[in-house]
Amino acid sequence: MVRFVDVPNMRRWLIDTGIEPAISGIAETIASDFIRWQDFDKTARVASHSDIGVIELMPASDGRQYGFKYVNGHPSNPARGMQTVTAFGVLADVDSGYPTLWTEMTILTALRTAATSAMVARVLAPADATTMAMIGTGSQAEFQALAFRALLGIDRLRVWDTDPRALDVFEENMRPLGFDILRANSAAEAVAGAHIITTCTADKANATVLTDDMVVPGVHINAIGGDCPGKTELDARILPRGDIFVEYPPQTRIEGEIQQLDAEHPITELWQVLRGEAAGRTSDEQITVFDSVGFAIEDFSALRYLAAAIDGTDYFTEVDIIAEPADPKNLFALVAQGAAAPSLA
Ligand code: NAD
Repeated sequence: MVRFVDVPNMRRWLIDTGIEPAISGIAETIASDFIRWQDFDKTARVASHSDIGVIELMPASDGRQYGFKYVNGHPSNPARGMQTVTAFGVLADVDSGYPTLWTEMTILTALRTAATSAMVARVLAPADATTMAMIGTGSQAEFQALAFRALLGIDRLRVWDTDPRALDVFEENMRPLGFDILRANSAAEAVAGAHIITTCTADKANATVLTDDMVVPGVHINAIGGDCPGKTELDARILPRGDIFVEYPPQTRIEGEIQQLDAEHPITELWQVLRGEAAGRTSDEQITVFDSVGFAIEDFSALRYLAAAIDGTDYFTEVDIIAEPADPKNLFALVAQGAAAPSLA
């Protein structure tokens, strides 16, 4: 039997746990897994592109457990009443190869993406940051805001989206949670005076949601939405002005904002910063850029956090998806008819 967390159970677990505590727990798990970076078998995700989207498989293993996520990215989906990003994932035991957990990961991806962003900002953003600009207030946005409050105490937001409805929904969701929100009329107005800029838009194009003139010294940029070949958000002129931090270079060079730069352009790997082996923020004037694309270890960490959190609870059911005959040499017994048929009792 495999533990199965469907959407209703994920919602129940998260509502009972609280979104900010869950994000904090996932952030600490991701940080602890990045610190033991060398333990992992790492692979850039396997992407299958179409004209309007992408479907990806994201595997990682630490030699004891193996995890993978199935995830899509279809920016035109909301216009069809569907999510841009949906996902599910599996955790398995390396020793037997048997899956141990199968779970929805659309919500879990929003949690882990936000947890990663805030965990990274904790080492890169100005220490006295109080205000975050958010460009793009779609599905990921509320989770990003809650993560930055949980880990950095940020509760002032300056928000902009090209779709007024997305801004309405964001405000309706977040004002009751105690955020101070300025609804801007442009990206430039949103970023004015912000210490952190989160770009979280969806467009299957080399878009420019943040232009060079909007970026002042000292700011931290949390660039989430540029995560596929030909899908970027930042004016390329911003990048050489800052220090760029990435998850896994072989993946980010292809998918991240740095696809706009020379393949040799210097970058810093986050795991080295988290281990104290590379510098993060070194001055008040420094521009730091987290070129986020989403890496499989973050999903592995989220899966392993969830597995521990639901242990001994009723936030899961069990599903019989491993065909396992009593005699391991006799798989046929499970489908045999007549005299050879086993009792199904
Ligand atoms: P979404 O479609 O729900 O929201 C995107 C929002 O961006 C929409 O409200 C849209 O109106 C807005 N937008 C588009 N172009 C804009 C522009 N030029 N200026 C301002 N707003 C603009 O998508 P989502 O689920 O919130 O995901 C956002 C992005 O984050 C996607 O590109 C997705 O692929 C990416 N993502 C990255 C990671 C990661 O780990 N880096 C994880 C999950 C999602």
